[in-house]
Amino acid sequence: MKDLHDCWLRVAGREEESIVDGPGLRYVLFTQGCPRRCPGCHNPETLDPNGGVLVRLDAILNHILKNPLIHRVTFSGGEPFMQAAELIPLAEELAGRGYHLMAYSGYTYEELVEDPCKKALLELMDILADGPFIEEEKTLERPFIGSKNQRLLDVKASLKEGRPVLWQAE
Ligand code: SF4
Repeated sequence: MKDLHDCWLRVAGREEESIVDGPGLRYVLFTQGCPRRCPGCHNPETLDPNGGVLVRLDAILNHILKNPLIHRVTFSGGEPFMQAAELIPLAEELAGRGYHLMAYSGYTYEELVEDPCKKALLELMDILADGPFIEEEKTLERPFIGSKNQRLLDVKASLKEGRPVLWQAE
């Protein structure tokens, strides 16, 4: 496992306690940079790949660990999978400590599994909210997603079955 002290991630921001970015009380890390340009993007300030700030992974980890109420973490953006290689050491550390992990992505599940590095990050997730935001399909009716084309997927079941499996609330 990599030393988190030597790894850096370009970060747009964080939400220390959220109940709207996945099930349960979650720490949300917003990564900086997204190659998509979805009209109506909810976080336009996170798109510039040179924006945000570089933060060391051990600092992010320590910030998450200091809140004893947090056992769930969401990676949002921006596009978290644009920095898949940088995120993997942090996700490995959190998964190893039993944290429930979720990621948002403008890529679909099918696109992510085609790329070895993106797939390696995906394999550490429990839930994936996938697909770009499509303004014409905007919905406020489904929790945790912005447009009807987006899916909440059970990542472990999807990888096991080799097809996207929808996440079912417990
Ligand atoms: S994928 Fe998400 S962050 Fe990227 S442009 Fe689309 S809505 Fe914005």
